[in-house]
Amino acid sequence: MPELPEVELVTKSLNYLVKKRKILFAELLRERLAPFNSPEEFTEKLKDTIINFVNRRGKHILFDLDNKYTLMTHLRMSGRFMFLPFERENPKFTHAVFYFEDESRLVFCDQRHFGFMRLVKTSELYETKELKKLAPEPFSDKFSPKYFRDKLKTSSRSLKEFLLDQTKVCGLGNIYAAEAMFLARINPQTPANKVSSVKANRLHKFIKEVLQESIEHGSTLNINPENIDGSYYGGGYEKHWRVYNREDEPCVNCDIKIKRLKQAGRSSYYCPNCQKSR
Ligand SMILES: [Zn+2]
Repeated sequence: MPELPEVELVTKSLNYLVKKRKILFAELLRERLAPFNSPEEFTEKLKDTIINFVNRRGKHILFDLDNKYTLMTHLRMSGRFMFLPFERENPKFTHAVFYFEDESRLVFCDQRHFGFMRLVKTSELYETKELKKLAPEPFSDKFSPKYFRDKLKTSSRSLKEFLLDQTKVCGLGNIYAAEAMFLARINPQTPANKVSSVKANRLHKFIKEVLQESIEHGSTLNINPENIDGSYYGGGYEKHWRVYNREDEPCVNCDIKIKRLKQAGRSSYYCPNCQKSR
């Protein structure tokens, strides 16, 4: 599943590729991709609109349109955008298509059918249930050490589960949560409200650092318009992971074997020596 740095890369690439382009025609091919809009409404509202810009909030990619609507999208597990020339056929699992004036088009395909789109009035965008409860952006001033410490105190769930809750911390997924907890030397099973202030501050710093590091990596990649997020995954970033997906490999600090445990149905990776403490 894409995490914030990958979504940031996809958003920037889309902004570069489709900003100021006019959508002549849009087609919703899988009705359940946009459960709040009928295929007719989808086509009608998007017809002859210009994309002002593409930005994101959390992992939602937002197409700001010149008709006072915004197309909110989420890649979820396997959604992908592809910017294709006329001669290229739609790939398998194409669920929505946006046709532009020069016969290029933007295609959304999604092998696992979890992707999401919703057309909303731009004035009501931040009142939607998808965006309303999202925690502050990790690089905004609102995501302060104090905000983070105060939120931690409100939850007795494990730190790992807390970090993945997008209403508490925005943008972390399985990979970067593991990396940040490793750098901060905190065990993923620690109850959130038992994390000391000193450790909370340290973790806050590393959350921003791991995301920043990965976003910077994304900014160095050459983007393939026909495989936008594939540019990220093919970029070799997994070599930078310190604990994630490294079960039984030696810890980069102490050589003890990295362990894996299941938390809320998902794998957590940690060093039992470096991350002993709570
Ligand atoms: Zn270690």
